Amino acid sequence: MPSSDQKVRGVPMNESDVVDRVLDEAARLTLTPGYINGDTYAQWYVETSVGLLKALATLAVGRGQLALTERLERFAGPMCLEVTGDTVCVSMVGAEGMPCSEHAPGNGPALGFCAYVSPHDEYPRMCKHAPEKGMERCAEHEARCRIVKKNGEVCGNWNCPAPAHRKARQAATRR
Ligand SMILES: [Zn+2]
Ligand SMILES: [Zn+2]
Ligand SMILES: [Zn+2]
Repeated sequence: MPSSDQKVRGVPMNESDVVDRVLDEAARLTLTPGYINGDTYAQWYVETSVGLLKALATLAVGRGQLALTERLERFAGPMCLEVTGDTVCVSMVGAEGMPCSEHAPGNGPALGFCAYVSPHDEYPRMCKHAPEKGMERCAEHEARCRIVKKNGEVCGNWNCPAPAHRKARQAATRR
């Protein structure tokens, strides 16, 4: 059933106006937290496809809209996505899940967070808990064993019961 809503409203637009309108809409694209509260990186996403983002970026280049091009390209590629306060970091990174250099876990203390760096993750992320008073790690990570084993790996066990590690820890705290 044709209705009055289906009539074209306003003046007809030329192609150039259409492109501008598409780019106006593209400029409104933003990151959305996924289900629940989006507190892990994989849950933040732009509600469109990578292909469309790249196509829009190309369109924006053609129009000389460099800031928009950069934004769309960022959204299309893997981003840091570190959430601090109410901002999401959109720095481009080399691979999905990787933090940017500013948000590398080693920078946690500089940003007021725990200094723990997971020895087991491919791309360790900052622990965003506050450090315990007078410590450099949060309570949970203070309890992780820091002893480096013979194979070069950090032990990482929770309240590690290994006697050798316990001894080494005591020696370290006495220093
Ligand atoms: Zn970042
Ligand atoms: Zn921690
Ligand atoms: Zn241990």
